Amino acid sequence: MGRKARVSTTIVALMQAGERHAWTLEALQAGLAARGEPADFSSIFRATEKLAAERTIRKMLLEDGRARYELADSHHDHLHCTTCDALIPVPCVIRAGASAALEAEIGVAIDEHQLVFSGLCPKCRGDEAPRRRGRSPARK
Ligand SMILES: [Zn+2]
Ligand SMILES: [Zn+2]
Repeated sequence: MGRKARVSTTIVALMQAGERHAWTLEALQAGLAARGEPADFSSIFRATEKLAAERTIRKMLLEDGRARYELADSHHDHLHCTTCDALIPVPCVIRAGASAALEAEIGVAIDEHQLVFSGLCPKCRGDEAPRRRGRSPARK
């Protein structure tokens, strides 16, 4: 296997191992190095662009401007944790038929969507629960 193909194969293997849900280029670089396949950013970037073009993986651009990559499996949306920067999968809440209704209403054609909620992941929410718990927190 050529070096380029090894980088691509290792990226897919890392994602399939599932130790994190979505990967930044930095996380992929660390993961590749940990698997004995160190690669520079441009090699990793080219591999992810190719895998995304082939629709093996999905590229997501977040408001922080950093791309996240994940396997292009079944549709789901995400929560971006404002504390730890994790990207957590969440089930899609767009009702069946909502896209068709929008298309009819505003005259567009919708192929797909990616919703990104921002807030706290379960772990960070647990850490901060005392501050956020309750609808009307007592203020002193
Ligand atoms: Zn995802
Ligand atoms: Zn969705």
